[in-house]
Amino acid sequence: MPVSAAVVSNTVSELSGIAAQGGVADPVVVAVRELVRTRLAPKVLDVDLKAEYPEDLLREIGAMGGYRGAASPAHGGDGRGLRQVVQVMEEASRECLSTGFMIWCQTACARYITLSDNAWVKERYLPRIVSGELLAGTGLSNTMKSADTIEDYRLCARRAEGGYVINGVLPWVSNLGPDHVFVTGCPVRGADGELEGLAFVLVDCGQPGFRLVDCARFIGLDGTRTLACQFKECFVPDAMVLAQPSRSAAYLARIKPGMILAQMGMGLGLIDGCALLMAQSNRTHGHVNQYLDDQVGEVVEALEQARATTYELCDAVDADPDGGAARTLEVLKLRLAGGELSVRAAHAAMLHQGAKGYLVRNAAQRRLREAYFVAIVTPATKHLRREIARMGCATPAVPARAA
Ligand SMILES: Cc1cc2nc3c(=O)[nH]c(=O)nc-3n(C[C@H](O)[C@H](O)[C@H](O)COP(=O)(O)OP(=O)(O)OC[C@H]3O[C@@H](n4cnc5c(N)ncnc54)[C@H](O)[C@@H]3O)c2cc1C
Repeated sequence: MPVSAAVVSNTVSELSGIAAQGGVADPVVVAVRELVRTRLAPKVLDVDLKAEYPEDLLREIGAMGGYRGAASPAHGGDGRGLRQVVQVMEEASRECLSTGFMIWCQTACARYITLSDNAWVKERYLPRIVSGELLAGTGLSNTMKSADTIEDYRLCARRAEGGYVINGVLPWVSNLGPDHVFVTGCPVRGADGELEGLAFVLVDCGQPGFRLVDCARFIGLDGTRTLACQFKECFVPDAMVLAQPSRSAAYLARIKPGMILAQMGMGLGLIDGCALLMAQSNRTHGHVNQYLDDQVGEVVEALEQARATTYELCDAVDADPDGGAARTLEVLKLRLAGGELSVRAAHAAMLHQGAKGYLVRNAAQRRLREAYFVAIVTPATKHLRREIARMGCATPAVPARAA
C-alpha cells in the first residue's frame, strides 16, 4: 500500500500520486488532470461558495475529449467507454465534486442517447454533446424512483398526433440552461388511465411549453445549475423520443447499470481527495492523528479495491449489448459502498484536519458536504439498500475497517 509516499510528500500536488489512478496513460485523462490542476483548482471556492457554474471548463473538458467515452466513433465518441468516463470524472472529483457530477450529467445523457434506437437524435445531438458544444443533463431521478415504487411520478404524458404532450414539474435537474438539453422519462397513460409504459425523451430547454425555474439554494453542489423543470402542455415530437412506452422497460434495464456505475467516478475521486487531506495533515499531526479510527492506509486500500472493481465492471457493462443487466446486483452493491466510503473518508479527513478543517476556505468541510451528495443523489443509500434487499440479498456492510 503506497501510504509511505503520502507521509514523505511535501505538497498536496505531490501527494496526488498516492491514490491516483495508478498507471493511467489515457492521454485524455492526463489532459483533464492538467486542466483540473491549472484551471479548476483555483475556481473551486467560487463554484462552492458563490454557486459559480464552471461552464467554460465543462466545454473545455468536452473539447479535449473528456466526454467521448460515452459515444461510439460514428457519433463523435472514441469508443473508450465507461472506464474513460469514470476516470475523467475521478480527475475532476478529486478536486471538485460539482464538476465531477456535471461530467456525470453530460456523459449520462450522451449514453442514454447512445443506447437508444433513435438514429436521428444520435446523428443530430450526440457529436455536439460529446464535444461539449451542447451541455446536457439527466432528469431520471424521479423516473427511477417511481419505477422502483419509491415515489409518485411527477410528470405525465399523453399521446398526441406525432408525439407526446407532457405536464408536470421535476424539481431538481442539474447542468441546465436555456440552450441545454436533458433526458427524462415520463409515464404515458391511455384513455382509461392505465399505465402504458414510459416515454423516454430528449427535452430541448428552449422549446415551447417548457420553463426552467431557479428556486433552490443548496449547501453543496450549488454551482451545478440545478433548476426546476416545468412542463405545461409541452409537446415533444416522436423524433425526440429515445424509447417508446412499449420498449421502455427494456430500455431502462439497458441504461440503468451503466448510469449507476458511472457515478462511482464521483466517489472514487472524492475519496482520493480526502486521502490527500488526511496525508497532508499527517505531515504535522501524524503523532496524534494515529489515534483516529480511520487512517490513510485503510482509506486508500478500500479506494483501490473499489476502483479495481469499478473498472472491471465498466468493461463488463460496455461489452454486454444488454448494458450489463446481469451484473446489476454487483453494480448496486459497489455503488452503495462508494457512497458509504465517501462519507467515511470525508469524515476522516475532517477529523484529521481538525479546527483548520472548519475554516470556510478549507477543503475538508466542503468535502464532507460533497460526500453526502454521493450518498443521497439517486440512487441514494436508502434506495440502494432497498433494491438490494428486494433482490433477495442482505445489504453489504460498510467496507470493513482494519481491525
Ligand atoms: C444538488 C442536487 C442536484 C440534483 N440533481 C439532480 C439531477 O440532475 N437530476 C435528477 O433527476 N435529480 C437530481 N437531484 C435529485 C436527487 O437525485 C434526489 O432525487 C433527491 O435528492 C431526493 O432523493 P431522496 O432519496 O432524498 O428522496 P426522498 O427521501 O424519497 O424524498 C425526500 C423528500 O424530498 C422530496 N423529493 C424527492 N425527490 C425530489 C426531487 N427530485 N426534487 C425535490 N424534492 C424531491 C420528496 O417529496 C420528499 O419530501 C438533485 C438533488 C440535489 C440536492
